[in-house]
Amino acid sequence: MAGHSQQTDIGDMSAAERREALKDVYAQAQRCMRCAELAATRKTVVFGSGNADAELMFVGEAPGASEDEQGVPFVGQAGKLLEKLLGEIGLKRADVFIANTLKCRPPGNRDPQPVEIENCKGYLYSQVELIQPTVICTLGNFATKLLRDDPTGITRLHGQPQVLTLGRRAVRLYPIFHPAAALYTPRMLETLRADFARLPELLAMGPPEQPQWTEIPEIDEIEHARAAVTGGGLESDGPGEPSGSDAEQMGLF
Ligand code: URA
Repeated sequence: MAGHSQQTDIGDMSAAERREALKDVYAQAQRCMRCAELAATRKTVVFGSGNADAELMFVGEAPGASEDEQGVPFVGQAGKLLEKLLGEIGLKRADVFIANTLKCRPPGNRDPQPVEIENCKGYLYSQVELIQPTVICTLGNFATKLLRDDPTGITRLHGQPQVLTLGRRAVRLYPIFHPAAALYTPRMLETLRADFARLPELLAMGPPEQPQWTEIPEIDEIEHARAAVTGGGLESDGPGEPSGSDAEQMGLF
């Protein structure tokens, strides 16, 4: 089955091979038409950017207007705050990988809809599988609820790391407030900063013990992402289509 061979391959892949595979997923996402409204209104698909072999990955909500223009996540005010907080723990943007729950901007910056999150989650799962981060920091409610598969909100969960198996990999999930929420609320910013300060300690713990699979599980989400472009006649190979190398040209990862 395609799912099995995909997973077996990922387990054996070098970092360079995983980066190449990530570029393939990038190219697939560029022509995704799963959400008709988002596909019709977006300027770019904001796949994510940073180190394709990062130990630390951030998952936000969805691109805003600036991100949609530039094709890069977190380039607006929230992104500047994220970079500042990263700097305070000795990290740069290029050290981490930054992605979003949705790869396309919801018009008017409305909340992502459940069907859109469902349509898009295969890309995020593929990113996690291929980047193999040790720590995934979910920024705010949408990413936290999606990756925990639970409706508990960020106010209750922030700052509490947990080991979670996503696909085949165990990661340290670390929910924190979304930087946009902290922009104008000094108390929330202090909480976010305090939660951020624990990241080096979490990273130093290294990857959690990995599950031992007697049988390699199916990961529907990866198939899901691939089906978005290989099945149902959704892909288009017309002129001007982005290719995997666009990620390279844009210096995304
Ligand atoms: N907020 C997000 O959640 N993601 C972005 O890319 C920008 C702002």
